[in-house]
Amino acid sequence: MNDLVIIGKGPAGISAALYTARAGLKTTIIGKDNGALAKAEKIENYYGFENPITGNQLIADGIAQAKRIGSEVISDEVVGIGYDGNFVVKSNNGQYKAKSIIIATGSNRSAPKINGLSEFEGKGVSYCAMCDAFFYKDKDVAVLGCCEYALHEAMELLPVAKSVTLVTNGVEPIDKFPSNIIINKKEIASLEGDQTLNTIRFSDGSSISTAGLFIAVGVAGSSDLAKKLGAETKDTKIIVDENMATNIPGLYAAGDCTGGMLQIAKAVYEGAKAGVEVIKYIRSLKD
Ligand SMILES: Cc1cc2nc3c(=O)[nH]c(=O)nc-3n(C[C@H](O)[C@H](O)[C@H](O)COP(=O)(O)OP(=O)(O)OC[C@H]3O[C@@H](n4cnc5c(N)ncnc54)[C@H](O)[C@@H]3O)c2cc1C
Repeated sequence: MNDLVIIGKGPAGISAALYTARAGLKTTIIGKDNGALAKAEKIENYYGFENPITGNQLIADGIAQAKRIGSEVISDEVVGIGYDGNFVVKSNNGQYKAKSIIIATGSNRSAPKINGLSEFEGKGVSYCAMCDAFFYKDKDVAVLGCCEYALHEAMELLPVAKSVTLVTNGVEPIDKFPSNIIINKKEIASLEGDQTLNTIRFSDGSSISTAGLFIAVGVAGSSDLAKKLGAETKDTKIIVDENMATNIPGLYAAGDCTGGMLQIAKAVYEGAKAGVEVIKYIRSLKD
């Protein structure tokens, strides 16, 4: 059992670990890649470097530092989070239990631009299979996406729904989808319905009937993960208080995923603050 799982190995996630691991908390960091900084060729506005440094070098040094002080750093993609008395983080290759979580997954990609998507949010359009699958018992549902995250959401729906269709919106899916998931690669023109979603129309004029569409495009983003635990979000940002705490006890967020200034210095501060607050939180559980 981990005291803390940090999702994201960018400046915010690593900065949090520097505090929690040094305070003796069992800290695991799970991150998919180098995040926003992978594309930063020259950083010269962050403290302590006489000469510009590349984003990839800054990340590599941060990860080495976190490992040196005792954090475990795992390269993997997180596809879901749940709660069963402890937090449960599901990744492509494993499952990790923790008393506390910090989401530090950077800024979300923008939501897919599909006519009718926002109109049917909460009325057939969902962002969490684990939370909402039950409402679609014995109904036809669809998952929008192509890859590991979409596969995870589809597998959550399969035992409950009457049928599950993967709609890729023109993208080629990975080849891991089992044969009982129907694959539809056509481009989507619009989502249609009356009070609730009932139809996905494609740009060639054809359509499929569906009671629900689960959005799982690309990698699970910050707000997708936060919503799975019932945390408050605004647009694609996670709402936190001045202690980086969400409305869910034990769940914190830091860095670009909380909005505001999208800079390393801010991500590092918020990671540090979240780390310090997690230390207090874990100690309070032991009292
Ligand atoms: C091209 C470019 C240049 C920039 N230049 C500067 C600069 O010069 N100075 C400056 O201060 N800022 C700069 N920034 C901004 C800076 O990169 C960000 O503010 C900072 O990286 C935010 O840190 P973060 O830890 O919040 O997120 P990120 O650095 O984006 O890290 C997010 C982490 O979460 C992981 N992740 C996301 N989703 C998942 C998932 N589902 N499962 C597992 N892991 C996941 C990613 O793999 C990554 O490890 C630049 C940004 C860009 C794009």
